[in-house]
Amino acid sequence: MAEKTIFKRIVDREIAAEIVYEDELCLAFRDIHPQSPAHVLVVPKKEIATLNEMTADDETLVGHLFLAMTEIAAQLGLGKGYRVVMNCGRDAGQEVMHLHFHLLGGREFAWPPG
Ligand code: 5GP
Repeated sequence: MAEKTIFKRIVDREIAAEIVYEDELCLAFRDIHPQSPAHVLVVPKKEIATLNEMTADDETLVGHLFLAMTEIAAQLGLGKGYRVVMNCGRDAGQEVMHLHFHLLGGREFAWPPG
């Protein structure tokens, strides 16, 4: 069996993380190396390596993750705005092969991103 990713181990409570939100389909926890005052990783409990591995069966899950992020942003007091980022694959800088959104807030962001 393939080795679990660090995020799957967090989902399974084998590794500690500062969890800010959980429901039946996803978990959100603070990034260990935050890039903004609020930096939360939102991960599906289902193991999906990258955006490219999503299938039609995951359509509902995708919508669920976005709605969860609006709840998390409200909970974190990000009323002035926030950024949602997903890195897909090596060139985009994806390090952990368990699909995740970065929800970043608490400061202003530049555009275009680096
Ligand atoms: P990626 O580059 O794959 O899009 O983002 C992975 C993110 O996971 C990085 O921002 C990194 O700081 C974060 N990260 C890596 N390992 C851990 C960990 O063990 N715990 C937490 N909370 N975040 C982690």
